[in-house]
Amino acid sequence: MSQARFASCIPLPIEHKALVNVIEKARDWGLMHGVAMRDKKHFNKDVIQVAPFVLLPSPFPKTEFEKAVELQPILNELMHKVAHNDEFLEHTLQNALQVDEFTKSLYDIWVKVRNEGITQPISLGMLRSDIMLESRCPHTENQCAKHTPYCSWKQVEINSIASGFGHLGPVSREIQSYILRQLGHPDLIKNMPENKALSGLCSGITDAYDLFGVPSAVILFVVEEVSYNICDQRFHEFEIAEKRPDIMIHRKTLNEIFEETTLNDKKQLILDGRPVAVVYYRSGYEPAQYPSQREWDARLRVERSTAIKCPSIQYQLAGTKKVQQALASPGVLEKFMGSGPSTSRVRDIFTGLYSLDFDENGERAVEMGLKDAEKFVLKPQREGGGHNVYGAEVREALQRMRHSRERAAYILMERILPPLVQGYVIRPGATMPPPVVDLVSELGIFGVIIGTSEKIFHNRQVGHMLRTKLADADEGGVAAGLGALDSPYLV
Ligand code: ADP
Ligand code: MG
Ligand code: MG
Repeated sequence: MSQARFASCIPLPIEHKALVNVIEKARDWGLMHGVAMRDKKHFNKDVIQVAPFVLLPSPFPKTEFEKAVELQPILNELMHKVAHNDEFLEHTLQNALQVDEFTKSLYDIWVKVRNEGITQPISLGMLRSDIMLESRCPHTENQCAKHTPYCSWKQVEINSIASGFGHLGPVSREIQSYILRQLGHPDLIKNMPENKALSGLCSGITDAYDLFGVPSAVILFVVEEVSYNICDQRFHEFEIAEKRPDIMIHRKTLNEIFEETTLNDKKQLILDGRPVAVVYYRSGYEPAQYPSQREWDARLRVERSTAIKCPSIQYQLAGTKKVQQALASPGVLEKFMGSGPSTSRVRDIFTGLYSLDFDENGERAVEMGLKDAEKFVLKPQREGGGHNVYGAEVREALQRMRHSRERAAYILMERILPPLVQGYVIRPGATMPPPVVDLVSELGIFGVIIGTSEKIFHNRQVGHMLRTKLADADEGGVAAGLGALDSPYLV
């Protein structure tokens, strides 16, 4: 059986001269509108280059897109409840903590601040639920009524920290609209859904700021030592600066936070003499971002403070792969959501997710993975791309870890096989014109939720982003250099 395929939005290939011409224009358009990143290989703070992008928007079924948009507030609320259920988080993460030092360090901060007493009951969740269409029909010979050429979408993961592309998502729609106009297809733009992710995410930050309610307070972005994805981050600042010129925004690394902030007697986080209302993490999700105890101390200080954190530490724990797997276990969703129609809608988006704990279920999952390694992805408790294990290596890893406690730090997930579409990927420095290649996409839906364990103040879906990669690539992170910016073309 050949893999399912969508037709591209216009017939390919594009005639050589027109193609070269439109790419040249689009690259300049991109550079001048922030479709750009810093170069990892030849880093120079003052230089940005165009980010990899797909020339034409990739087809995505309208009904599935709308389903994802509608479901987001339900997923937001689920994550909010999970983050506030101490017992569930403790129980779910218990085995992984024994072998995963990074998750353990986050967990220890959570325990410490809980024991000291919560100073800020409000959390700000800026979530991104990542999904892929599943082209493998569970029915014989792809004969189900729905199969055209997908069955439905499945969740890859949900991110609760540093969910990027609030700027790069919307601007991908703009660059592809420009390209379609240049190619003489302005009529197609209407099939690209509006995307207000940047203003939507920033409104989450400013709503939290207003709830904090101290007029002299500032906003703090926690950033890496070197930010490659600088346009995406800075546009959040520019957006807030434009809409709310009354608010001062700082960008600091964890190390700078260690050196430059204090807690006052009211547990306010003080920076430059002013209290911090909102801390927005664009760093702090992987071990390399905590090179010394200073960074961990800074994180603890922020968590102890009255600042509203995006995410607060329990939200970060709720975003782990282990929690995603536990939510897919029988009966667990019902505990959080009851047994109404929303629960079955959420259950429908889960693909096979298996624990590798040392129990009957874990043993069964190991057997399954050893038998059909190619059907699975092995995932540790990490974020930011590049940590998962695929294909034959799943078998090797399972063989190696079979009798080691290390395996409890991983989950086993069924591999999703999305439908293909042909297209052109434009990369900085690549030969021109690029070849027509087979691509697959991953859609991210953004959600904002603000509330306490008792009350939810805001809960909304705020936009989307699409990343596309070569069909035979395992991962598709754009910042990691594997994926390319894209936007959905609804069919
Ligand atoms: P991270 O938190 O590091 O982004 P992900 O779970 O999103 O981890 O995995 C990284 C990438 O690996 C995804 O963007 C996707 O391209 C690929 N991937 C992850 N899980 C699956 C899956 N079940 N099926 C197919 N591809 C997957
Ligand atoms: Mg992630
Ligand atoms: Mg991901």
